[in-house]
Amino acid sequence: MYPQPFRYHRPNSVKDAITLLTELGEGAKPLAGGQSLIPILKMRMDEPSDLVDITRIPGLNSISTDNDLIRIGALCTHAQVAMSEAALTIPVLRDCAGGIADPQVRSLGTIGGSVSVADPSSDWPALLFVLDAKIVCQGPEGSRTVGIRDFIVDSYTTCLGDAELVTEIQIPQPPANSGGAYIGFKKAAPAYPAASVAIQLTLDDAGKCKEISLALGSAGPKPIISADAEAILKGNKLTEELLKQAAEKLVAESSPPSDARGSAEFKQEILRSLFLKTAATAINRAGGSNIDGTHDYV
Ligand SMILES: Cc1cc2nc3c(=O)[nH]c(=O)nc-3n(C[C@H](O)[C@H](O)[C@H](O)COP(=O)(O)OP(=O)(O)OC[C@H]3O[C@@H](n4cnc5c(N)ncnc54)[C@H](O)[C@@H]3O)c2cc1C
Repeated sequence: MYPQPFRYHRPNSVKDAITLLTELGEGAKPLAGGQSLIPILKMRMDEPSDLVDITRIPGLNSISTDNDLIRIGALCTHAQVAMSEAALTIPVLRDCAGGIADPQVRSLGTIGGSVSVADPSSDWPALLFVLDAKIVCQGPEGSRTVGIRDFIVDSYTTCLGDAELVTEIQIPQPPANSGGAYIGFKKAAPAYPAASVAIQLTLDDAGKCKEISLALGSAGPKPIISADAEAILKGNKLTEELLKQAAEKLVAESSPPSDARGSAEFKQEILRSLFLKTAATAINRAGGSNIDGTHDYV
């Protein structure tokens, strides 16, 4: 199906984009990689009067590191993040970005678009939760920085205000002896994961868990977290027994929908085993191993 007709605008700066979005009002939407928005328009699930194409705005598609902060421009594509210097130092970025869909989607879809759409099945939110990412937003009232856990409010819902744009994603550089992993369970590359697990941890000199952050993706309206599950592991040697206990706590918090990707029970079973596999990769990386992470395919 063709989308309903819309007017197309291509501003050259963030300021112009915000002015346009403000003037055009509710019917106007920003357009980034179009990998979520265009299918929605083609299915006529949304009929905006105006699209404000932000893809040519300079300065929003670079990745840099300063003061222990990795700054990823909102217009960076998944492919760009997967192949970045930052992904060499934090391989979990490559796990996530490089596993999204197929090369076509990865070369157009942007990290800013992914967090803005807040699809509960998408890959970035769970990972950004455990990396303690901050989202920089700019709107008519100026700029503000919001933690990802406050930015994603619910399924397909963020705290973005009218005419507000995501301009940057900031990720703190993990301390020494840290490692992370992100693994999705998918039917095929172009499919969204049926379930996913993100883990970021830091070990102390004795090999015990000093810090840990856990999240499940595609397991509820937004990434599932559990302070109780983290408390089981923090300060302890990460034995299989403790990891299984933490997985149980986390899975108990999840509420995956039964859908074409599997029943809720099936997804929860997958999450248990995916958790152990993801933890093993994160622990090995924290211990200095340079191992590849890869999604699990059915
Ligand atoms: C076949 C297919 C398979 C896919 N598989 C996966 C997958 O496995 N995992 C996954 O995570 N994703 C997947 N995706 C989605 C893909 O990652 C999209 O790139 C992403 O969801 C949206 O990014 P975008 O740049 O394309 O945004 P767009 O589609 O352009 O925009 C999406 C929404 O966000 C808004 N928006 C965009 N950028 C901004 C911004 N900077 N500030 C404020 N609002 C903004 C738009 O107005 C729109 O409402 C898939 C898509 C397709 C078509």
